[in-house]
Amino acid sequence: MNAPLSPDVVVIGAGVVGLSAAIAAQARGLSVVVFDREGPAAGASAGNAGAFAFTDILPLASPGIIAKAPKWLLDPLGPLSIPPAYALRIAPWMFRFWRACSPARVARSTTAQTALMDLSKAELEAFLTATGTLHMLRKDGNLQVYEGEDEFKASLSGWKAREAHGIEFRHLDADAMAQIQPGIAPRFTHGTFTPGWYSIADPKLYTLALADHFRDKGGLIEIAAVTALKPLADGVEIITSNGARRAGRVVLAAGAFSHRIARTLGEAIPLETERGYNTTLPAAAFDLRTQITFGGHGFVVTRLSTGIRVGGAVELGGLDLPPNFRRSEALLKKAQLFLPGLKAEGGQQWMGFRPSLPDSLPALGRARASDRVIHAFGHGHLGLTQAAGTARIVADLLTGNRPPIDLAAFSPQRF
Ligand SMILES: Cc1cc2nc3c(=O)[nH]c(=O)nc-3n(C[C@H](O)[C@H](O)[C@H](O)COP(=O)(O)OP(=O)(O)OC[C@H]3O[C@@H](n4cnc5c(N)ncnc54)[C@H](O)[C@@H]3O)c2cc1C
Repeated sequence: MNAPLSPDVVVIGAGVVGLSAAIAAQARGLSVVVFDREGPAAGASAGNAGAFAFTDILPLASPGIIAKAPKWLLDPLGPLSIPPAYALRIAPWMFRFWRACSPARVARSTTAQTALMDLSKAELEAFLTATGTLHMLRKDGNLQVYEGEDEFKASLSGWKAREAHGIEFRHLDADAMAQIQPGIAPRFTHGTFTPGWYSIADPKLYTLALADHFRDKGGLIEIAAVTALKPLADGVEIITSNGARRAGRVVLAAGAFSHRIARTLGEAIPLETERGYNTTLPAAAFDLRTQITFGGHGFVVTRLSTGIRVGGAVELGGLDLPPNFRRSEALLKKAQLFLPGLKAEGGQQWMGFRPSLPDSLPALGRARASDRVIHAFGHGHLGLTQAAGTARIVADLLTGNRPPIDLAAFSPQRF
């Protein structure tokens, strides 16, 4: 199909968030064109851990992380690192992150995050059905494991907070853990199983399937880098590498790069990236029955249809430094120690840019400069998880309907 000269909506970014929003807008009868500088699934949506982590309602910005961070930062290949070349640049974001760790802010973020999680979970299966991707959904749960009594006890306040928000979980001893997942090293003495944690067979194949569905329904995906937005009286001008375009409305969903485009509207949104690393091993590398989270070490092991993915970690290194794949290797070495039967050969390494705001909540809402531009970015560790809920919200905003949850905590102007 040819691109409408001035579609109702242009979505910037063909990751899981942009494509989900584009599909939801299309389903409301709007004409939609998606711009991506590389094409579908070029960013974080391709290589993530594939989890619909609906139970993960506690913001990363919390007193718990402040307690763990100094120890983690001592190890340059540990769960959290700041390359010296980026330390000064990240300082303002770190300051905002630290301010978001107050008990009152954490409580507010948790309530907001829970609302977005509940909405995303409620929307997910209908969205997967409508896009022909329901067969990719797995309901294998997640097993969070702890190295000893002390680590387990330290986790209990977080579980209590989740319980208060209706999250279902079971604490397990080593024998009960082995029934869910055999082969975990005996140093992990305790675990917590969350059955409400789902996953997708493969996040890249899922994102590509969304792109196919969007095109099948008449949508167009154009390869073009967007460099600026200019509000007009009756629409928005979009400056791209292919020239200037117009649309009635724009959805900005360019993941970790979104702030660069928002800046052209005069908005300074403190988006940073938490770079994450992984290695995807052949499917026969381990008999994995659920996702395993090694929370004390900041990584997960996931069973995908395309392999076993070992990854996580946070590197606050910005968008321009080259990847340091020693981090992928360090995570894989730990996984071998923790899952002694894991065959670590034949892996493929990857690094991706999580789009992260300091308070661990995304930016969802209208731009300050124009109510015709809707921001939908900054989902951090949870973009796949929250894409269906975000899509519903964006479609409501585009069609003048009231979104089903209060968006105040997600306001792009909250910083
Ligand atoms: C190691 C790791 C593990 C993760 N695990 C999970 C998980 O298990 N569950 C979960 O929910 N989330 C997870 N995440 C987070 C998740 O991957 C992201 O939150 C999500 O993919 C963000 O989606 P997005 O569509 O906003 O961005 P992206 O997927 O990054 O897409 C943005 C798109 O915008 C395009 N773009 C950028 N700039 C421009 C421009 N100027 N013009 C045109 N196009 C542009 C890019 O090419 C890209 O295709 C993980 C992330 C990492 C790194």
